[in-house]
Amino acid sequence: ALLITDECINCDVCEPECPNQAISMGAEFYEIAPDKCTECVGHFDEPQCVQVCPVSCIPVDPNRVETKLTLWQKYQGLQRAA
Ligand code: SF4
Ligand code: SF4
Repeated sequence: ALLITDECINCDVCEPECPNQAISMGAEFYEIAPDKCTECVGHFDEPQCVQVCPVSCIPVDPNRVETKLTLWQKYQGLQRAA
C-alpha cells in the first residue's frame, strides 16, 4: 500500500482518481486506507494518485510493502466485497 506523508497540501486531486476509494480526508491531511490500496494493481499500470499528486508526497508505506501477487489478491478480495 502507498502512504500520504505530511507534505500533503490537501489539494484533493488524488481522491477522485483512486479506483478503490482508498483516499479520504484525515485529521490533518489526506490519508490512504491500506486495506483498500492495491497500488492500482488490477486497474492501472501505475498508481493513479502518484501520477496526479503535484508535490510527490505518496511513497510506498514502509510498513506495508507488498508483492504484486499480494496486491492482486487484495484487488480480487475487494472485487468480491463490492
Ligand atoms: Fe488508490 Fe491506486 Fe493510490 Fe492506492 S495507489 S491509493 S489504489 S490511486
Ligand atoms: Fe495531498 Fe497529493 Fe493528494 Fe493533493 S494529490 S491531496 S497533495 S496526496
